[in-house]
Amino acid sequence: MMGTLGYLIFFGIVFWIMHRGGGCCGGDHGSNSTKQNNQGEENKKSASEIIEMVCDPVCGLHIKKSNAIPRTIKGGKYYFCSAECANDFIEDSAQIIIN
Ligand SMILES: [Zn+2]
Repeated sequence: MMGTLGYLIFFGIVFWIMHRGGGCCGGDHGSNSTKQNNQGEENKKSASEIIEMVCDPVCGLHIKKSNAIPRTIKGGKYYFCSAECANDFIEDSAQIIIN
């Protein structure tokens, strides 16, 4: 009986030491919380993105600025729904220069 009690006390002390050593585990939890904070900032960035709409001067279509094709023609910035519209507009502006 005494031997069993001795083992229990021994394991009790070992578990107690391991539990105290578990302080480093608390540090891991701290780094996890900072990772979660970073993810939160990324979510804020995507949520705060403003969807800008632009008008295609060729076909008059309204498209998202992120999906539009930007072209700088004669110092002015234009946005097109497709490369075809952009080429049409460039050809038209070139004809104006020729005339
Ligand atoms: Zn277009």
